[in-house]
Amino acid sequence: MSNVFNFSAGPAMMPKAVLEQAQRELLNWQEQQTSVMEVSHRGKLFMELITQADKDFRELYHIPDNYKILFLQGGARGQFAALPMNLANNKGKALYLTSGHWSSTAAKEARLFTDVEEVNILKDGKLETGNLDFSDVAEQYDYVHYCPNETISGVEIFDVPNVGDAVLVADMSSNILSREIDVNQFGVIYAGAQKNLGPAGITIVIVREDLIGNARKETPSIWNYEVQSKSDSMINTPPTFAWYLCSLVFKHLLATGGVTAMAKRNREKAALLYAYLDQSDFYQNNVAKNNRSLMNVTFTTGDDELNAKFVAEATAAGLQALKGHKVLGGMRASIYNAMPIEGVQALIAFMQKFEAENK
Ligand SMILES: *Cc1c(COP(=O)(O)O)cnc(C)c1O
Repeated sequence: MSNVFNFSAGPAMMPKAVLEQAQRELLNWQEQQTSVMEVSHRGKLFMELITQADKDFRELYHIPDNYKILFLQGGARGQFAALPMNLANNKGKALYLTSGHWSSTAAKEARLFTDVEEVNILKDGKLETGNLDFSDVAEQYDYVHYCPNETISGVEIFDVPNVGDAVLVADMSSNILSREIDVNQFGVIYAGAQKNLGPAGITIVIVREDLIGNARKETPSIWNYEVQSKSDSMINTPPTFAWYLCSLVFKHLLATGGVTAMAKRNREKAALLYAYLDQSDFYQNNVAKNNRSLMNVTFTTGDDELNAKFVAEATAAGLQALKGHKVLGGMRASIYNAMPIEGVQALIAFMQKFEAENK
């Protein structure tokens, strides 16, 4: 098939140029006559790779010098546990703003380690609290956690919660590098790589320096931000190939206009798809307009059988992985950074055809 587009929610598609470069370099990386995955992570060339990756990621996301960037394992879920182990040791209490599956799952895991209070900030896909002002209560907590993009329901929170001087923590697994943010507003940002950064197996944690060094003493070394920070995220053997692929993605993004240009493309892609959904009375998207995700677009025909038919025929037409998450049903088109606008156009053309045939 000539035109296949992969709408998988994660692991998700990667930039073709990056995969081609990795392919070219696979057997002979840096003139070593060996691949990058066969060299020492402490060797000169690999250390140069991670130094450059740090620099490129900093440049892309405008990360100030007083933040460390850790490249860890264990996925976002590992961080669900690492956060309370590292941060919840002064007041012993954390506030979790919940808006769907991932933020709730993060709260549940944190409860294994600390007292957690939860506030549901969404109702029917809409922001409950409007301006997200928690500045008067946030001081009672070691940190406030939220998830700016709920991958399963396709709900994105564009306003950053106001937590005053408290520490704000964000799970950006499915929207990191998708649009510009002000890193200074956050204490910790973390993301599994497999949606917008690279392959599965590596997790990026951006952590403000003053938050490092307060881990409870029984924290395993691999989860301890101080230990990992002091050992270049290499207290154990890191996932070197995944790190390498992320470094190529960073270079690719820098070469294609950085996050500003990417955000513009992402807004265009999402606007196209939502505009089509809004004019159709065959498909519905149930998320409030202000909270529609730029990355994960959910839709349904309202009929389970018709949804299944849609997914089967779309797959046959080269539009892959459109089945919605099992907790929600329906369809989901994940249109991360690597999805070209042509993929969205092909999806809309298919949706039009399917609508005409099945109305
Ligand atoms: C995918 C996802 C996770 C889980 O990531 P793992 O790396 O598999 O642990 C957590 N949070 C969000 C927002 C996600 O999209």
